Amino acid sequence: MKIAFYDTKPYDRIWFEPLSEEYGYTLKFYDHKLNADTAVLAGGYDAVCVFVNDTADARVVELLCSQGVGLIALRCAGYNNVDLKAAAGRIKVARVPNYSPAAVAEHAAALLLSVNRRTHRAYTRTRDNNFSINGLMGVDLRDKTAGIIGTGRIGQLFVKILQGFGMRVVAYDARPDEKLNVEYVSLEELYTSSDVISLHCPLTSDTYHIINRNRVEQMKDGVILINTSRGALVDTDALLEGLKSRKIGGAGLDVYEEEEDFFFEDLSNEIIVDDELARLLSFPNVLVTSHQAFFTREAMQAIAMVTMENLYAFSNGKPLKNEIAYQGGNSPG
Ligand code: NAD
Repeated sequence: MKIAFYDTKPYDRIWFEPLSEEYGYTLKFYDHKLNADTAVLAGGYDAVCVFVNDTADARVVELLCSQGVGLIALRCAGYNNVDLKAAAGRIKVARVPNYSPAAVAEHAAALLLSVNRRTHRAYTRTRDNNFSINGLMGVDLRDKTAGIIGTGRIGQLFVKILQGFGMRVVAYDARPDEKLNVEYVSLEELYTSSDVISLHCPLTSDTYHIINRNRVEQMKDGVILINTSRGALVDTDALLEGLKSRKIGGAGLDVYEEEEDFFFEDLSNEIIVDDELARLLSFPNVLVTSHQAFFTREAMQAIAMVTMENLYAFSNGKPLKNEIAYQGGNSPG
């Protein structure tokens, strides 16, 4: 097997190289992302391995197929960046569905605690010998209401963390899990009753901009919004308006709808040309992290192992248990 890895960083090689030796596979690590310009570099490879901000749209799928690539192996859970309809029957697509939901749920908790108590600001203040606590006041989370949209693997764990804080937790899911100890409510009730709203559903045509201007208007004054799922769940213009009007009291964002040109890169010597991102970063009550919620030792190990298992199953004609098949209708991406 020869596999072309796109959008790789040093930490990808650390986890994948030892496994490639075990499997006897040849890996080629590209720094750049997969897109219509770079797909040509997959020529001569059996599979491509891609991450969250690579693009496998219809054009790229066509280019990969024409070069004989047989598998798109996602080393992530979300697959909104792959055109499954274009891939159907032509190239297989597999993902890592469940590497460490705890990693993401715990990061969502870190964002919530930081945004609420402004610890991200306290950190920079005390490093500058500024020991004032003016402007850093938060609220007790205990007895407040949290609204969770999407109660899959990550959402369920986050529900339990928040219940541990003594919060009342309500939830909305397209497919509620009756076994979960949580009160399912309508989306409208979730928006009107929650002090904290956290997104844990996938990005699909149904959930695109699930947080929009109308929804923000329905929310409680001072609501804290947490998004560790996908950037395009939130209409950034609506978020900015909500922050400026103080309707939204804080936001913890691990994802951003236009993140692919920025996240994972060191741009500290550059001018940020995305005005919305620059504006978001300017708010004292907004904490942006660079799509790092997944980034724990346990998650990286599991991602590498399951990705290699997917590649092995594909190359040996075994059942590809993590294959994402096109379901028809509106598929994510
Ligand atoms: P999951 O598939 O276990 O759960 C998703 C839940 O969302 C399911 O219960 C599903 O029924 C629900 N859902 C689907 N459509 C919905 C809709 N229209 N409205 C409400 N709920 C809906 O997925 P998961 O493992 O919990 O991951 C959730 C998301 O987290 C992923 O889709 C991915 O985008 C994101 N993620 C982010 C990171 C990160 O590093 N920031 C890492 C992993 C996953």
